[in-house]
Order: sequence, then C-alpha cells, then structure tokens
Amino acid sequence: MSVYLKDEYKNFDSYVPGEQPDDKSYIKLNTNESPYPPGEEVLKLFSNIGKDIGINMRLYPDPEQKELKGKIAESLSEYDENLSSKNIFVGNGSDDILNFAFNAYSDSERVAVFPDISYGFYKVFAQFQGVRHIEIPLKDNLEINVEDYIDLERKYQLSKAPLIVIANPNAPTGISIPISEIERILKSNPNSPVLIDEAYVDFGGVTAIPLLKKYENLIVARTFSKSSSLAGGRLGYAVSSEAIALDLELIKYSTNPYSINRMTEAMGIAVLNEQEYYKENCKRVIKTRERTASELKNIGFKVIPSTANFLFVKNEEGFGGEELYRSLKEKGILVRWFNKDRIRDYLRITVGTDREMDILIETLKEIVKATRVKD
Ligand code: PMP
Repeated sequence: MSVYLKDEYKNFDSYVPGEQPDDKSYIKLNTNESPYPPGEEVLKLFSNIGKDIGINMRLYPDPEQKELKGKIAESLSEYDENLSSKNIFVGNGSDDILNFAFNAYSDSERVAVFPDISYGFYKVFAQFQGVRHIEIPLKDNLEINVEDYIDLERKYQLSKAPLIVIANPNAPTGISIPISEIERILKSNPNSPVLIDEAYVDFGGVTAIPLLKKYENLIVARTFSKSSSLAGGRLGYAVSSEAIALDLELIKYSTNPYSINRMTEAMGIAVLNEQEYYKENCKRVIKTRERTASELKNIGFKVIPSTANFLFVKNEEGFGGEELYRSLKEKGILVRWFNKDRIRDYLRITVGTDREMDILIETLKEIVKATRVKD
C-alpha cells in the first residue's frame, strides 16, 4: 500500500473472492458458477454474426440500457405484469447492485442489518461505507429466524429504520425462507429498505418479485452469473419501485454511467432470447444436486437441504472442514471453506456436472479411507 492511501483504508479487510489458482487444472467447485456454457445465442455473438457489435465498440454503450431493461421486465411479467424498464436497474454483476444499495441507503443513522452467516460481502460493504451493522445469528440449524427481523427499529432502538439485507436462498447454507415470511419482514419494517438478494433463486427458491405490488420498500437483486452461465460477463439487476431504481441510477451516474459494456449488454439480451435453455440447465443442476446430496449422506456427511446450486456439508466422522478442503485441493478439486465461527467444519461445494460430482465423491471416499488407514 502506498503512503497516500487514506487512513480509513489502511487496515481495511476487503472481500476475498474464491481462489483461482493456475498451478494446475482443477475441478472448480468453489464459486458457484454454472457447469454449463452459455447458449447458442450468446456463442453466436462471438462469431462473425457479432461483427456489428465489434464495429460499434468505438462508441460508448447506452448508459440507460433501455433494450436490456425492457427485456428483463418482459421476462418477469409472469410475476408482475405491470413491471416496465423503469422498475429495472442494471449493474456490473449483482455485487454492483448491493454496493449501490449500501451506498444509497446506509449512513450513521440508518444501520445495516443482515444474518451473521450469509454472503460475506455484506459486511465489507457496510464497513466500506463506514456504517454500523448488526449481524443477527442464524438458528442452530442454520435457518433464519424470521421473528428476529420483526420491527427492527424498535427492537434495537434505532434512530432510523435500518437497511435490511437477506439472501434468499441464503449463502452459504442454501436454505430459503418462504415468501410469506419475507412479507412479514416487509410489513413490520415499513420504513426500511429491504433488499432480498436472489442470486440463487432459480435453483429452487421462490422470488419475492410479486410482493413489489404491495411493498414500495422492497428491492430484489438478481444476477446473470449463476443460472444464466454469464459469471464472466458481469451482469446483475435490481427490480424495485421506480423511485428506488432512480436512487440506484443516481449512484451509477455519479460513479460510472457506462458500467455495462456493449458485449455484456448483447449477451444479456441473448440469454433472455433463449430462456428455455437456461431453465433446462437449472433442472439438470437440481437433479445433480439431489443425487450428490444423497451420495454424500451415504459416505458420512451431513448435508443441509439446498435450494441453490451448491451444497453446504459437514463430515460427521470428525474430519474438519479445513482438512477436507486442503486434501481435495491437493487432489485437484477446489471447494470453498470459510474460516469462520459456527461453520468452520463445513464445506460449500458448487454443483458441477454429473461427472465432476462422481469424481468429487470418489475423491472424498479415498481421503476418508486413507486417513482411517493412517490412524
Ligand atoms: N449474492 C450472493 C449471495 C452471491 O453468492 C454472489 C456471488 N458471489 C453475489 C450476490 C454476486 O454475484 P455477481 O456479482 O456475480 O452477480
């Protein structure tokens, strides 16, 4: 770090993304990407058919992203037929959306509230904004206790209703809460912006978007990174009231109005023109997830029931999370291990292809057997 860095950043703990080592080729099950490539429509953009996009690269993209927003709104009409492009905000990955929401809605009076075990970036965003945050513990079985989120302003005697952020399904647990419970949170915190992060909703969760008709304080954040196979494209969006979408635009126009490049915009539109392909892939992931879960149980793992594209698992025969993570890495399989209280013995394993999961299971069997022989 240079001597010029401002003091408040000097010891700042920034977010640590999943590792991407290049010492050898790994089976990568550590960042919840799709195991399947983008569909034909996206791939066409990279061949000659995409030449016009190439030629237009000399021009800035549309900062309003009108076409993309219109297509997104149309794709969500089954949940709310009144949605238009004015209810959509697009960002460079849903991390951008989350960042902007923390920027727009938290300050010294409006603190941020989220579960103690959830997406690690929430804490980083709160700290980066320099705002206080409250982490509400999950229950012992790692479920969110909705009761703990009722009327937070009064419960914590806050001077302003807090920003509430909940991933549904939650990460890294994969557990969802029903929409009726999200509604209880919205209803009992009418002055709070409530951000529901639906990064993994397409793998078995239920979207909160229909609640937008009734609750002006709801913001739903979604991403093309997981179910749409576009993690490399960086595209996320928020669905909200028009007023909230304008708030997020304010932050975008004050930082980087061209945050979505032409290629990414074209890829997003291509995904939306071929939705059946991605829905089928989600079904494949769910099928592989359920098969893997039962095989993991057969070899001595506790598996948290998942509604996401990953499994959160713990060995019940005493193998620690770190030990298993390291042994798997040595054998060419990357999974995510969190060095954090309460979940240190767990591994988060992205659902890959059937073949990748077969290799994972065989490798885990070998590790467990080899260690037993040593004992
Ligand atoms: N929310 C959750 C819960 C996530 O796990 C992730 C992915 N790490 C994101 C949001 C951000 O995804 P992206 O920026 O790729 O859209």
